[in-house]
Amino acid sequence: GRRVRTEHAAAQAPVRKQPGFSDLPEYKQVVMQQLAGQQMGMENPFYRAHEGASGATALIGGRSFDNFASYDYLGLNHHPMVLARASEALQTFGVSASASRVVAGERTIHTVLEEKIADVYDAQAAVCFVSGYLTNVAGISSLVGPKDLVIHDEFIHNSALAGIKLSGATRRFFKHNDTADLDRVLKTLAGDYERILVIVEGVYSMDGDIADLPALLRLKEQYGFWLMVDEAHSLGVLGETGRGVFEHFGIAAGEVDIWMGTLSKTSCSCGGYIAGSEALVTLLKAQAGGFVYSVGLAPALAAAAIASLEILKAEPERTHQLRHNSRLFLDLARERGLDTGLSQGYSVVPVLVADSLRAVQLSNELHADGINVLPIIHPAVPEGLARLRFFITSAHTDEQIARAVDRTAAILGRLEQEKFG
Ligand code: PMP
Repeated sequence: GRRVRTEHAAAQAPVRKQPGFSDLPEYKQVVMQQLAGQQMGMENPFYRAHEGASGATALIGGRSFDNFASYDYLGLNHHPMVLARASEALQTFGVSASASRVVAGERTIHTVLEEKIADVYDAQAAVCFVSGYLTNVAGISSLVGPKDLVIHDEFIHNSALAGIKLSGATRRFFKHNDTADLDRVLKTLAGDYERILVIVEGVYSMDGDIADLPALLRLKEQYGFWLMVDEAHSLGVLGETGRGVFEHFGIAAGEVDIWMGTLSKTSCSCGGYIAGSEALVTLLKAQAGGFVYSVGLAPALAAAAIASLEILKAEPERTHQLRHNSRLFLDLARERGLDTGLSQGYSVVPVLVADSLRAVQLSNELHADGINVLPIIHPAVPEGLARLRFFITSAHTDEQIARAVDRTAAILGRLEQEKFG
């Protein structure tokens, strides 16, 4: 039966030739880029493996580095209480939640974490997902569909873009942090859709500037839309007690419909969350594919996030120290004539260096000097806007910061001289 039919079909139609992965033009381009770097004698700055817990310092290849490449904003990644709570949870619950929470993966520790997250935003409820990336993909795609409109800041994170694409909603962007441009988009399109979702970030991940929340809320009042704020880089960073962009502006958290964040930065764990109304969270838990059909957050990761949220609340001085450190970095960098772009001196400070090649060279030379900071190059940012991205943490010392700025300015100055000299 079956075999005969297959042979018969093969005789009629020529077999389609499926390309091998190594035949793909995308693959060839990746290889070409790597070769080009090698031919110019450049070491690949990516995928350098760290040999221990990374925060203000990192151990790489047996050598200790001043580290500006890890998200650990409040220096909690090897805090004794975080470690103790994580290992306690490991002993109690085992490594994995072992199932989707809907079926058999619900653990008591998930509720504890979600109450703590809701508490940050004075929200009725919160739900966590296994990654920040997945949170945006699953969250956005389950709230809007083909009849709806999503308008986002042009610098929004890739995970939010993926969520919008998956939703099938009409997508429009507005110029970065330009609420007049958002107003223009809303004016032309708002009447045509039932649901409108506007997505911004509290602190922008590549530029380190802050969303104009008051202006966004005025537009929300005028047009009516759901406002979603991705707080990945602002939890623990903005506001007197690190609660984020709403605290920074002195605005009630309830003004924003959808608070999204990750557990991988200040919370030194892995996972993401959405906080808001009871109805929002109920809806997500019922229909967000990335929640329903994915394993529950690993208990030890939930425990680490709980501990770090407790420390954040109990020790606001960490947030203050981070602010001091970021401000110091920004001030020194500006004094030395470095181009810090739009950064307002919170958590993320980029140093723009024009082209990708220069960014890689600078990163490698800093590495040789014992400073670990990674280049962000095309396609993560447009060519011409390549940069080194410094993640500042509360655990950096003034000396580490001063040396990093000094070496960056000195090396960049020399590279530029070599080019023109
Ligand atoms: N949103 C933003 C703004 C981010 O910068 C990131 C990642 N750095 C994410 C979401 C995804 O979070 P995660 O890395 O925790 O998956």
